[in-house]
Amino acid sequence: MSAPRLEFRLDRIGHNARALVDRLSLVDVSVCGVTKATLGSPEVARELLASGVGSLGESRIENVERLRRAGVTSEIMLVRSPMVSQVDRVVAGADLSLNSELAVIERLSESARSQRTSHGVVLMVELGDLREGIMPADVPDTVRKVLRLPGIVLRGIGANLSCQNGVIPDPRSMAELSDLATSVETVFGVGLDVVTGGNSANLPWVLEPGAHIGRINHLRLGESILLGREPIQRTVIEGLHADAVSVVGEVIESKAKPSRPWGERGQTAFGHVVDDHPGVTGGQRVIVALGRQDLDTDGIVAPDGYVVLGASSDHLVLFCHAEAPQVGTEIRFGVDYSALMRAAASPFVGRRYLR
Ligand SMILES: *Cc1c(COP(=O)(O)O)cnc(C)c1O
Repeated sequence: MSAPRLEFRLDRIGHNARALVDRLSLVDVSVCGVTKATLGSPEVARELLASGVGSLGESRIENVERLRRAGVTSEIMLVRSPMVSQVDRVVAGADLSLNSELAVIERLSESARSQRTSHGVVLMVELGDLREGIMPADVPDTVRKVLRLPGIVLRGIGANLSCQNGVIPDPRSMAELSDLATSVETVFGVGLDVVTGGNSANLPWVLEPGAHIGRINHLRLGESILLGREPIQRTVIEGLHADAVSVVGEVIESKAKPSRPWGERGQTAFGHVVDDHPGVTGGQRVIVALGRQDLDTDGIVAPDGYVVLGASSDHLVLFCHAEAPQVGTEIRFGVDYSALMRAAASPFVGRRYLR
């Protein structure tokens, strides 16, 4: 088996998805399974669909196209605003997209007409995190214009919090989104089938007993399904697996070395001045063939007995408390969302799917 590689425990990913789908179905919220951190893996997508997610979410059209080529026919939502330069591919590959610019929706309309099809639009509303979304006061005017565009179906409205500024979805912001949905329906006499409240950061709010869910009927979940954690405090969600995905690297050097560098010192390979890890004295140093070209090395968790001392483009240097491994030994690391998505996008990192 070649290294480095990502290992996906599909049974655990499926368990996480099923647990979230079941809990959210009690409050009539459907789950869109977001596969972007897996680079649009068809294996993971099929597991999510088999575990009850209603649709898939992807941020990149390339990943949508990968899923389609692999025969995935479920509804796919593009969760980043389409680029104008990609509207034809978006209309061809995705059923609907999250949008915050009328100019983009107009281009989607032209493309849908020329492809003799229609495209679903969910209008994103800015609720305070200051990433994507139209200001709430501009919703009526935008809706009026969108409803006039041929080939465009206004499927709903939505919001995204917790990404740019860590603003936590709470009863106030979710009630604001609910009220907007109801007022759009009343003013324009249309039905909105999707009111998408946000991402994994919405779980603490939605799972709070007695939460007033209002009109929210859809969440887009990636991290919570793949890594079992909510992203506000990064605590493991009760009953979910936090170890469904790991990365495996291979030891290429293992030696006893002095604990302090010697010689005059300047910058390191990546311009950082390293501290000397004062807690680390003597013992064994281990190099794993894993580096910044493979993943975000700041987002990995070493197994018990190891401390990560640093990483350059191709070398991960560890301190080993226990018996030193021989070269050729494989070491398994936990990953956070950043490490996972960059490993998934690296051409150097293989994959293995396990049950
Ligand atoms: C990535 C993303 C999601 C999924 O977020 P998680 O924190 O992984 O659940 C949902 N919506 C949008 C707009 C995203 O970009």
